Amino acid sequence: MDKNVKPIVIAGPCSVESRGQLAAVTEALAALPQVSLIRGGVWKPRTRPGGFEGLGEPALQWMQELSQRHGVAYCCEVARPEHVALCQQYGIGTVWIGARTTANPFMVDELCQGLRGSGMRVLVKNPVSPDVRLWLGAIERLRKSGVDDIVAVHRGFSMYHNDGFRNAPLWEVAMEFRREQPDVPILCDPSHMGGRRDLVERLATVALQLDYNGLMVEVHPHPDDALTDKEQQITPADLSALLERLQDQLSRQGNEGQSSPELTALRSEIDNIDHSLLRMLGRRMELSRRIATVKRERNMAVYQSGRWADVVRDRLAMAASLGLDSSFTKELLEKIHAESVRVQMENDK
Ligand code: PEP
Ligand code: MN
Repeated sequence: MDKNVKPIVIAGPCSVESRGQLAAVTEALAALPQVSLIRGGVWKPRTRPGGFEGLGEPALQWMQELSQRHGVAYCCEVARPEHVALCQQYGIGTVWIGARTTANPFMVDELCQGLRGSGMRVLVKNPVSPDVRLWLGAIERLRKSGVDDIVAVHRGFSMYHNDGFRNAPLWEVAMEFRREQPDVPILCDPSHMGGRRDLVERLATVALQLDYNGLMVEVHPHPDDALTDKEQQITPADLSALLERLQDQLSRQGNEGQSSPELTALRSEIDNIDHSLLRMLGRRMELSRRIATVKRERNMAVYQSGRWADVVRDRLAMAASLGLDSSFTKELLEKIHAESVRVQMENDK
């Protein structure tokens, strides 16, 4: 294990369950050069009461002892300032804020009090609901408290319909987050996203294709006996094989700067197309303004449903012949139409 490797691969059990379990997983993960940090839940937020809630301080004592023996580093979830203080006491340098905590600004504020001046690296999981502002808000609160070593973790969102995932990925929400915070590295947690062992590889692959900076994967020496999240944990041997298969994508990570003449040419063509699209949109809005004047003169309503239905039918047929996705085209047309209506109403004032 090399703590400085990039991309960042964090692996380890959902929960620390015993000294034996932590020792076994540590020994196996310490042998994997791609793994940079070992995770282990010490205080477990349970959606419903009655389940295993973590071992607390004894787990931290084992982490400290095993980190010295194997030269590894650990991280765990914190939800209260007291958790942060205990982590510091036992030499834990990285902690994460869980999805249920990120969703609650009161708790984030309280945690920030504990993290202020700690020098810790803080991972911030996305909030349970797909509200990018809560995720951004948690990061802004941390920064205001002087925490500047921040990494985001995309673990998916809890939805009524999850499309077969435990937490729907909603990659577009994470994209929005990345647009707002381009300098914050982002990891994918395919374990909590998929909720199932057999989905881990597929989700990790998508994340690396989207140029994520690494992964957080749940790994247990005996997943079927795990006290929490047993369906989604994989063995250290599974992780090792998975990282081998992902090796090419992992090593490609962060290569944005290494341009090639072909890439430069393709990008410049894309730039030209975007400029033409914007010029065309400008002309289209100009025509909308002129139409608004004609409609006003003839005392016609701005929105004409029959005309709009014809437009959609015609454009969708054209989009299909060009191989464009119909729901994408429809969404795009609706956005353009809404703006066109807004422009026409503006003229009405
Ligand atoms: C976890 O990582 O064990 C965990 C509880 O994650 P999340 O906050 O993403 O549900
Ligand atoms: Mn878990």
